[in-house]
Amino acid sequence: MHNLLQQDQSPFADDSAQPGNKRILIVDDDEVDFIVLKRLLNQIFGHAQDLEVATTWEQAEKVLAKGEHEIHIIDYSLGARSGIDLIRSTIKERDPRIFILLTGQEDRQVDLAATRVGALDYLVKGELTASRLERCLRFATEAMSQRQMLFDQADALEEAQRATEAILARAESSEKEYRWLAQHDLLTQVPNRMMFAQKLRIGMESASRSRQHIALMLLDLDRFKSINDTHGHQTGDRLLVEVARRLTETVRDTDVVARLGGDEFAMIINNLDEPLFASGVAEKLTRALAEPFEILGNRLEIGSSIGVALFEPRDTTTPEEIISQADAALYRAKSAGRGMFQFYDDALNGEIQRTHLVKTQLPVGISAGQFSLAFQPKICLRTGEMVGAEALARWVHPTIGTISPGEFIPAAEETGLISSLSDWIFEQACRTIRSWQGTAMANVSIALNLSAIQLFKQDIAADIQRLLERYELAPAQLEFEVTETAALNHVSSAMEKLAALRDMGIKVAIDDFGTGYSSLALATGLPSDSLKIDLSFVAGMLSSPTDAAAVNATIALAHSLGKLAIAEGVETDEQRVHLLNLNCDQAQGYLFSRPLPAADVLAWQIARTSFP
Ligand code: C2E
Ligand code: MG
Ligand code: MG
Repeated sequence: MHNLLQQDQSPFADDSAQPGNKRILIVDDDEVDFIVLKRLLNQIFGHAQDLEVATTWEQAEKVLAKGEHEIHIIDYSLGARSGIDLIRSTIKERDPRIFILLTGQEDRQVDLAATRVGALDYLVKGELTASRLERCLRFATEAMSQRQMLFDQADALEEAQRATEAILARAESSEKEYRWLAQHDLLTQVPNRMMFAQKLRIGMESASRSRQHIALMLLDLDRFKSINDTHGHQTGDRLLVEVARRLTETVRDTDVVARLGGDEFAMIINNLDEPLFASGVAEKLTRALAEPFEILGNRLEIGSSIGVALFEPRDTTTPEEIISQADAALYRAKSAGRGMFQFYDDALNGEIQRTHLVKTQLPVGISAGQFSLAFQPKICLRTGEMVGAEALARWVHPTIGTISPGEFIPAAEETGLISSLSDWIFEQACRTIRSWQGTAMANVSIALNLSAIQLFKQDIAADIQRLLERYELAPAQLEFEVTETAALNHVSSAMEKLAALRDMGIKVAIDDFGTGYSSLALATGLPSDSLKIDLSFVAGMLSSPTDAAAVNATIALAHSLGKLAIAEGVETDEQRVHLLNLNCDQAQGYLFSRPLPAADVLAWQIARTSFP
């Protein structure tokens, strides 16, 4: 036996350790117990054991700390302390070492406490026999090996679980990747036909619950096939990528741009407050693709055709139906020529097409000289004389026919063409006034309508000054009419520009007075010489008390501010007499004359002055 503390020369010191032997430690301060145990162990193991003994708590702690033994037989009473405490302080989690408690007598409480701290069994000193000890050690060894097996299995299980989780995580990310690939067009990276169908269904479902409209647009590139044929597929592919990018940039984030295949794209325009707003989007998309593309050193010009179908809230159209509607509209757009869009709905189509047509025809109309001016006389109500005339723009399109200012002025304002159109109108008016020198129209001042846009963009006074000089006209020969709404959107700038015109000696009238919903103080505060009563009030003044009140009030207001009151749209003699009685200064309307071409207004004036 091998003693742990060489210097402590234990009485139990014996032979030295052999590899393969059972390594047994006895912790007991009683020599008799030790001798008995040693004898029994010898009977059981013979020489196949290395037996050590520790006789005090401290000795035992040191030996145990080295962890060299497999089996530990520990006495319950170790001086003042207990073997249970020793086991508790020694044993580690999943400790493979076997601890057996040696007690003086059978005691269930001690047995329980020993098991709780990790001892595998306990032996009662008085009942010790070789066979009992052998069985105890065998059972304990088996129990320990089973316990270790369980630990190993738990470890293996945990490892397997970790591996499974890793595999699942990898599967999930590749599933996402797979799903993305299945739902997107690989070339352009936008949603493909499958995802488009999904988004359309979802969009229609949510629109049917809300008050908003959805527009489905199918788009086809106009010259794609020939580009593919002449420049090759690589260029064609790049072009498609670029088209998808432009389309995506043009719509809102909540909209969807999808590639259905080939050169066919689809857009789902969500959350439209007004179905007509879809035409603005279609226009923007058309414009975005009309710009040339720079692809692999080539400058490519393509156009697009778009078919639009609308889905209104509480509509019962199915996704399949709306797709075939948009498709039918696309077919019509393509046959209508390049760069067109068409709505499936005919009524809407008419309205939208007309505005679109007006907008696209405007520049052509201006440069092709399709515009002309008409002049409508303004009459002094007291004397019946013509004191002025309003110049009104007229557009007769060679195929569409007459387009009213109510259509083309807003279109010109929207497209930014109002400046060039007005330049033409002003120039033409000045030329006409000049041509009237020495005629019956010589002293008639001509009123020009001034658009809101011009009022805040241009240096209008400088432009007019140049015109007056070029045509050698006196400022009193010109007058400007500004609508109340137009002026009030940019009050301070409007005030300045109008003041500048008046400083030059040009008269200013506030047009359509009373329709602008503006504050009276602002409207009357604008630098002006007259207020023009809107024709809607004149039309209603003899039957509607509110219209009558509006007319009365405007005249009174004009006079109290030292301005003239001018009535528009006077069509009957009763209206004329009524206005005269109200002390209205001037009137304009079909009763006196419709707007006439320059030559006709001159003839009209000559006829009136020659035969009063
Ligand atoms: P406005 O300046 O108030 O012009 C009066 C409008 O009333 C003109 O319509 C005229 O033809 C119409 N009118 C005149 N007498 C009668 C009448 O007795 N009965 C009825 N029912 N209508 C009458 P028009 O020419 O269609 O012009 C509409 C508006 O378009 C004009 O309203 C003006 O705001 C704008 N506009 C016309 N020409 C020009 C222009 O050269 N430049 C700008 N910026 N706007 C213009
Ligand atoms: Mg006017
Ligand atoms: Mg008016």
